[in-house]
Amino acid sequence: MTIELRKLTKRYGTLTAVDAIDLDVDDGEVLCLLGPSGCGKTTTLRMIAGLEFASEGDVLLGGKRVNGLAPRVRNVAMSFQFYALYPSITVAENLAYPLHADKLSKTEIAERVARVSKTLQLDGILNRTPSQLAEGEKQRVAVGRSIIRDPNCFLFDEPLSRLDVQLREEMRGEIKSVLQDLSRPTVIVTHDQLEALTMADRIAVMRDGRIEQVDTPHNIFQHPTNLFVAGFIGTPQMNLVPATLTSAQEDGVAEFSVEGGQNLKIQVDRRICELSAGARVTLGIRPRNLEISHEAVEDGLSTKIDMVEPMGAETLAHLYDGKHDLRVVTDWRVPLTEGEQVHTRFLPGTTLVFTEDEQVLRS
Ligand code: ATP
Repeated sequence: MTIELRKLTKRYGTLTAVDAIDLDVDDGEVLCLLGPSGCGKTTTLRMIAGLEFASEGDVLLGGKRVNGLAPRVRNVAMSFQFYALYPSITVAENLAYPLHADKLSKTEIAERVARVSKTLQLDGILNRTPSQLAEGEKQRVAVGRSIIRDPNCFLFDEPLSRLDVQLREEMRGEIKSVLQDLSRPTVIVTHDQLEALTMADRIAVMRDGRIEQVDTPHNIFQHPTNLFVAGFIGTPQMNLVPATLTSAQEDGVAEFSVEGGQNLKIQVDRRICELSAGARVTLGIRPRNLEISHEAVEDGLSTKIDMVEPMGAETLAHLYDGKHDLRVVTDWRVPLTEGEQVHTRFLPGTTLVFTEDEQVLRS
């Protein structure tokens, strides 16, 4: 089974909520739609489910166009959160509930409940009601209810948003392994990047109804293709520093004049040679790729420590170079004093260069 979206578009009056997106989700693959509020994630999911009809373009399930088909005929499992169990009936009855409309025999229902409870290890709690369950067990029952109809695909909208932090952490791994075993395509909508980075096989980052990048979590984080994805993924956020190229060597060592007047000589991508001196760029560097030095260095900027935020094992320091705030994450043992003048080194080879059209420079 596969999900394919072809130039899928949704308009509400003059607003284009989803703008000609193309996307493939394979059997057993978990794809997360990630993006800021209003970028079109839920609308995309609802079009796959059949809860919204596309203005243009196609939805294909298992290679078959399903545009005009009602949700039940599409046989997709869509859940808005993994919760929402019926409180007054048992776990077994909760699991069987979605099957009643399918007019299955009692034996078949019992068989399906047995199969799902085995997969999710619910055998010992089938006769309890939801109030007698731990939070993680409730979550597993809710997953069971989504999978019992043996749907063509799974669609989840912000599945873990109601859970507390600890349970979220537990469930992320557990749900991912269950979904992979089921060998069906899954689409999860989330605005929580940690959820996407940990659960997804691939992430589609959306902005204004369009897909900016579809890639593995590793590549989305390490190799963003444009300025939007670079700034959206990663906490603390990537530092984005406007600069002008002064000179570049063939090995990728380049000099920049950073907005505000300071000069910076760093190793970047070799393709920097293709740009002419005077080119306007944005330098992108993650807070963990900056280092604080007490001596002046040519691969760094002179900065003042503005604010220090202890985060346990690490410290987040906000530095100011006279024009920009720079976020630096250091080991907690590095002594930092607010108001102190220091130098911020850009670790070699870790700075991304974005050209004026906001695309990353890459060989
Ligand atoms: P969120 O994370 O806040 O749920 P989202 O990325 O899921 O956001 P959508 O809910 O898909 O975004 O909405 C995309 C755009 O379409 C938004 O501008 C929203 O206001 C608009 N929109 C969604 N549903 C409707 C509707 N039924 N009528 C008119 N506009 C709508």
